[in-house]
Amino acid sequence: MNLDAGSTLWQKAVKTIELNKRQEHILQIVKEHGPITGEHIADMLHLTRATLRPDLAILTMSGFLEARPRVGYFYTGKTGVQLLADKLNKLKVKEFQSIPVVIHENVSVYDAICTMFLEDVGTLFVVNKSAALVGILSRKDLLRASMGKQELSAIPVHIIMTRMPNITVCEREDLIMDVAKNLIEKQIDALPVVKKTENGLEVIGRVTKTNMTKLLVSLSENEIL
Ligand code: ADP
Repeated sequence: MNLDAGSTLWQKAVKTIELNKRQEHILQIVKEHGPITGEHIADMLHLTRATLRPDLAILTMSGFLEARPRVGYFYTGKTGVQLLADKLNKLKVKEFQSIPVVIHENVSVYDAICTMFLEDVGTLFVVNKSAALVGILSRKDLLRASMGKQELSAIPVHIIMTRMPNITVCEREDLIMDVAKNLIEKQIDALPVVKKTENGLEVIGRVTKTNMTKLLVSLSENEIL
């Protein structure tokens, strides 16, 4: 899934936090009278239970209310910011990952530099002949190799790359916030999204600092805070 699709998912996820007048009213009633049954809330609002059901579902799903069987609804006391943090902490890599750029380990440093320019990325993932992840190349790795007097088209990238098992990876189902922490702690720009296969780790995506910045912008565009 590309980032645009991810943004739409994200917008859907946060939209539930914007409450309409009736939902605000329900919240107020539960704050004052909770725990309270759905029927009781409906009576107080002079509405049917069926009319209220979607609003109660939204308030429960977004974490403002909790429902206990045979007890009723009660107010969780969570603020908008806490609910937003809850949502952020549930977002998964698969909703935000973008497409990886992969090269073979025997490609020359010169060709890797060309690929980096042509593909307009800052990190290349290096694979062996079984398409398994064996290394990673950053801009600085390539710059460093270019500082010597060697012939760049004669050096294969596997000589200069950061290699397995020292590569920090993530999987589609991992939490995006864990990836963000890894990017900060390890001081790196990107993580490959991998899938385990019998040959090793197949690279199926990437998460970069740009993905994180886009997440922040889509958050602000929803004007949640
Ligand atoms: P740059 O070096 O261009 O600033 P990075 O900060 O991403 O880019 O890379 C710093 C170093 O960490 C490089 O040597 C690179 O090979 C390595 N590196 C980059 N990404 C990872 C990763 N996911 N796991 C382990 N090492 C990485």
